[in-house]
Amino acid sequence: MITLPKYSFGTGDRFAKQGSAQLRALEKIRADGADVAPVWNKSNREHTIIGTTPRSTREEADAAVRAAGWKTPYFVDADHINLSNVDNFIDASDFFTLDVADYVGKPDPGAADFAKRHAGPDGKDVRIELPGGLPPIAASAADIEGAAGKFLHAVREAGKIYRAIEAKKGAGNFVTEVSMDETDIAQSPTELYFILAMIAEEKIPAQTIAPKFSGRFNKGVDYVGDVSGFAKEFLSDVAVIQTAIPDFGLPKSLKLSVHSGSDKFSIYRAIREACKKFDAGVHVKTAGTTWVEEMAALASVGGEGLEFVKAIYSEAFAHIDELTGPYATVIDIKRDALPKPELVAGWSAEKLCGTLRHDQSNPDYNPNVRQLIHVGFKCAAKAGARYFELLAKYEKEVGVAVTKNIYARHLRPLFIG
Ligand SMILES: [Zn+2]
Repeated sequence: MITLPKYSFGTGDRFAKQGSAQLRALEKIRADGADVAPVWNKSNREHTIIGTTPRSTREEADAAVRAAGWKTPYFVDADHINLSNVDNFIDASDFFTLDVADYVGKPDPGAADFAKRHAGPDGKDVRIELPGGLPPIAASAADIEGAAGKFLHAVREAGKIYRAIEAKKGAGNFVTEVSMDETDIAQSPTELYFILAMIAEEKIPAQTIAPKFSGRFNKGVDYVGDVSGFAKEFLSDVAVIQTAIPDFGLPKSLKLSVHSGSDKFSIYRAIREACKKFDAGVHVKTAGTTWVEEMAALASVGGEGLEFVKAIYSEAFAHIDELTGPYATVIDIKRDALPKPELVAGWSAEKLCGTLRHDQSNPDYNPNVRQLIHVGFKCAAKAGARYFELLAKYEKEVGVAVTKNIYARHLRPLFIG
C-alpha cells in the first residue's frame, strides 16, 4: 500500500512553475531534521479557472523531483474532487481528496442503525478513552444519532467516490483523504470519532481526514478565531484519531489534514505541539501562498514586473464580484480598505510588495489586498503568455522568494519551531 509519510505538506502551485523552488524549501527543512513529503495539490476548481489539466500538475511534480534528485516519496493530489470530476484525475494523481461537504446534513436511511450499533449498553453513554492524559469523551445515544444524521450520508458518498477510484487504480495504489472542511459548522472531536467509525464501516482506507475546525480560514491570510480554543480542539482531534485507529482498524498512517487556505501562521505552533505530544503526523495543505508570492516577488523587481502586478490588481479590483464569488465562504475582504487602482499605480516596488507579502509586522501589509490577489489568479491566467514570460525572466528572484516563503513562514514553524 502507498503510505503517506508522517509529515507531509501540500504545496499547491496554481501555475505549475515553482515546483523546483518549492522542493528546495523541503530540502532545507530536511537538512534541519524534519522529513516532510511534498504533495502537489490542485483542485478541479483551480484547473477550471486557469484552464489546465491534472496532467500538467503531474508533469510539474515529476520534473521538479527529477531535477532535484529527490529520492523519497512525493504525491500529486486530486484536491476536492467528487464523482462528477474524478475521472480527469485518475491517471495523473496518486492522492485523492474526496470532498463530501455538500452531503453533510443530508438524511441517510442507515443512520438509526448506525446509532444502534454504536450506542452504549442499555442506552448508557459510550466512554471513549483518549491518550495523553486527556479526559475521556462521553457520547450519549443522542450524540451518536446526531453524528449519524449529519455525516453518514456524506461518508457513504465518499465510499462511492473511493470505489470508483479503486476500480480504476487498484486498492493500495493511492492515498485517500476524506474532506468535510468546506462546510459552515465545525465538527467536534466526538463527531470526528464517529465519522471515523463510518469511514471504517464504508471500508475507505483513509490516511488523512480534513474536518472543519473552529474559526475562520480565510484565503491567504492568518487564522481568525480563538487560538487557544483551536489548540484544545486540535489536540483532542489528534487524540481521537489515535484512539480510532485501533478501535476501527483504520490505517496506522491516518492523520489530520489541515486545509489551511494558506498562511494560518498563528495556529502553526498549536499544530506542532500537538503532533509532538502525541508523536503524531499531520498534513498541511496550502494553495495560493505560492501564487501570491509570485506576485510579491514580481512587484519587488520593479519596472515591468511592478507594472504587471499593478495591472493584475487593477483587473482584480474591477472584477471583484466574479473573482470572490466561488470563494465567498472563505474570504473576508473589507472593500473600503482596498486602495483604488489609480492610487496603486503610483506606488513603489517596496510599497506594493510590502502590501502583498504576508509579513504582519510590516505596516504596509494589507490582508484585504492579499485576499483579493489570492483569489484573483484568473487575471494572471488571462494574461497568459506575458505572465509566463515574466516568471521565466525573473525566475531567480521569484524562486528565491517562493522557497523562502514555504520554508521560513510555513515549514519551519510547523515542523521545527
Ligand atoms: Zn479544503
